[in-house]
This record gives sequence, C-alpha cells and structure tokens, in this order.
Amino acid sequence: MKTIIEPFRIKVVEPIKMTTAAQRDALLRRAHFNTFLLAAQDVLIDLLTDSGTGAMSAEQWAGIMRADESYAGAVSFFRFRDSVKDITGFANPLPTHQGRASERILFELVGGTGKVVPANAHFDTTRANCEHSGAQAVNLPIPEARDPRSRHPFKGNLDIAALEALLAEVGPENVPLVIVTVTNNTGGGQPVSLENIRAVRAVCDRYKLPLFLDACRFAENAWFIKQREPGMSNRSVRSIVREMFDLADGATISAKKDGMVNIGGVLLLRDPTLLQRASELLILTEGYVTYGGLAGRDLEAMAQGFQEVVEEDYLEYRVRTAEYLGERLLQAGIQIIEPPGGHAIYIDARHLCPHIPPHQFPGQAVVAALYRSGGIRSCEIGSVMFGGTTPDGSPRPAPAMELVRLAFPRRVYTQSHFDYVIEAAQEVFAIRHGLKGLRIVEAPPVLRHFTAQFEELA
Ligand SMILES: *Cc1c(COP(=O)(O)O)cnc(C)c1O
Repeated sequence: MKTIIEPFRIKVVEPIKMTTAAQRDALLRRAHFNTFLLAAQDVLIDLLTDSGTGAMSAEQWAGIMRADESYAGAVSFFRFRDSVKDITGFANPLPTHQGRASERILFELVGGTGKVVPANAHFDTTRANCEHSGAQAVNLPIPEARDPRSRHPFKGNLDIAALEALLAEVGPENVPLVIVTVTNNTGGGQPVSLENIRAVRAVCDRYKLPLFLDACRFAENAWFIKQREPGMSNRSVRSIVREMFDLADGATISAKKDGMVNIGGVLLLRDPTLLQRASELLILTEGYVTYGGLAGRDLEAMAQGFQEVVEEDYLEYRVRTAEYLGERLLQAGIQIIEPPGGHAIYIDARHLCPHIPPHQFPGQAVVAALYRSGGIRSCEIGSVMFGGTTPDGSPRPAPAMELVRLAFPRRVYTQSHFDYVIEAAQEVFAIRHGLKGLRIVEAPPVLRHFTAQFEELA
C-alpha cells in the first residue's frame, strides 16, 4: 500500500518563527511553565489543541465572502441549518459561539442542585458547566479505559452496568440526561461503538431519560466505527453519523473540532418545549436564533465544514496521522494511550517520569520538556486539569492517569512536521530521568489549567 498523503494542496502559508532551545527556556520561565501563557508566535509546532486551529478550505473561504450578514433570517443561517440537518437529521439546530455556550444553555435548563449527570467521560467545560448549575458530573468509562495499554477498539464506551447501578443508587428522577461524548476527548480521543450508543439508548428508554451526545468529533468517531465495528465496513461515514444522531435526543457540538471552523458551535434538541426555552436563553446571552452570537460568515464556514468532515479520504488521512505518530512514539519507548485516538496522541507521563509524583505534576513536566526540546506546545490532562477542589471546597479525587495530549489541528501540519515532533519526543525520552516536578504558585479555583502559574522544583 502507498503512503496515505494529505488529500489537499497548500495555497496559503503562514511562516513559523524558529527559536533556539536557550530562547525557549527563557520564554517558558516567563510563561510560568504554563504553555497556555506562551505567545503563539514563540511556538514551532502548536499541538495545544485541535479546537478552532484547523485550516479552512477554499470553499469555506468562498462562503465567507458570500455570507449574508442580515440580523434575522440570513441566507447563511439557512445554509447552516440545511447542512446540519442533512448531516444530523435535527431540523432546528441552534447556532452558538462554541461548544461551552451550548453546554451552558443546556445545563441551565436541565441541571441544578441534587441532579446527577452520568457520561462515559465529561470534558472539562462540560463538567464545569454541569457543576456550575449545581449538578454532579459522574464519569462511567468501561474499565479498559483506565489501562493505557489496553487495545480495546472502543475505549470510549460507557459502562452500561455502572450506569444501571448509578440509576438504582441515585434514582432516575434525579438524572436529567445521560451524555455520551464522541470521541472521548479526556480519555484519549477513544471512540464509542454504535453498539454501545444503542445500549445506552436502551437503558435511557427503560427509564425514560434523554440521551445527549457531546458530538464534537462525530465524524472521527464514525470513521472508527466503520474501521473497527463488525458489520460496519461497508457503510458510509455519513450513514453511521446519521445513526449516531438518530439515537440521541439532543447534542452539544463545538464546531471548532469536526465542524472544521475557527469558531462556532451547535445545540441540537428534539423536544419542542426544551428547544423553545433554549431559544429564549440563546437570545438572552448569545444572540438571535438565526445567528447565535456568530457572524453570517461563520455560519457559512460551518455549513461547508460539516460537509467536508465526512469525506472519507480526509478522515483516513486524519486518523492515519495520529496512528503514525503513535506508532513511532511507542517504538521510541514512550508509552501512549493505546490504540492511538482520532485527534490526538496522549503520552502516559506517569510511565515516562515515575520519579515525579502526581502532586508534582509529571504531565506538566513533560509539557515543559517538549517545549524546551522542540518548541512543541502540548497540553497536560492530569492532576493540573482535574485536581484542585470542588465548588464546596473539598479536594477532587486524583485522576486515573497523568497524560500529555498532543492534539492535531486539522489540515495544518505535514508529515515532516510530525517527523520533527517524533525527534523532539525522542530527545525528551533520553533526558526523562532529569525532568523536574512542579509546584503551583497561583491558580484560580475553576478550570485552573488555563492560567495556573508554576515553579520548577529543585
Ligand atoms: C472542545 C470540547 C468541548 C467544548 O467546546 P468549546 O468549543 O471549546 O467550548 C466540549 N466537549 C468536548 C468533548 C470537547 O472536545
């Protein structure tokens, strides 16, 4: 088989400013060892996130020029609506400025004190919005999800028995909805099988509970279903996507992921009463229902992006990129969450730095080392992101894993960029015993990873 190439040509380029290791060491110290606090121009390969960092297509840019900026009933809104309906089957999508705006509206409607919201894995903003409403967010991943080496094909699956047990324990009347996050971002970008979504649906039907998708990476999830799930290889990604959404009563979507845009989100609701109330909240805090806090041009870009993301040549190249990096890191002795996920590779920092205990943030130490070695910006997903205290002041339980996420912007970097990342990671592996733990000097109580300041321990 031949190399799977990037299925696009490059028409516009952005220069990368080169830096030396010594310059990066100084820049890192100035950013208090938090790569969120770096200026982007000081980063060579930016793998902080795949959110809103992708390159748009010629057709998306053409849509941006054609866009209708009317306040109400813009042509661009109808293009957005028809495109989202075509992909998801939901007739009345609400545009929002990004995923968390959809989450905030949803949890204002269904959350509240005493409520319990189960999911395979809550993303950080989903958890924060859920808890902000007073509700409790509970993760119910399958046991294999906690083992970085398990090659289970659908490590994003929700543990059905654990869901039944939770419902028995807290009572279904206290559970406003069940969330399935596709793919599971915080647990390694791992997919959820169609069989599992159907099983969650069956439980929800039995207890008359709504099932919601956190559908940020719906197309990548569908690609994995096509590749890995028995009986699915002959189905189109489009039809798998459609079945995923058909099983749900609603969805929150950040279009900055599989919507292939730099900004935008969607809230999908089937229940007309909930849709009406959500529309009212949308108008209150985001904008009128036909623009939801976005410009007409953003709606055009989303309308086109949702169509391009289900192209299978694109998805094959996209997922192969993650696999390629994952295979090379494993060959270099760097343990990652196996198998490689869709949008990112997650390095097991506890395995790489067993000498750094979780409270000294081994993940953050690896993040700092990757930046020093190669100017690569990555993201800690471990005790920095999930540690700290709950809204009532009690300490959060230690996360199951200390991870470093290398997330891939869509259609931005080429294979030689990835080869360079592999070389920098090999360099970090060689000096792993000398990496130092960190201590938090200053941090806010909520979503602290964005702004926390660190100090390297002696
Ligand atoms: C990015 C993301 C969100 C939040 O979306 P934003 O657009 O960043 O607000 C929610 N859930 C998952 C799984 C995500 O990856």
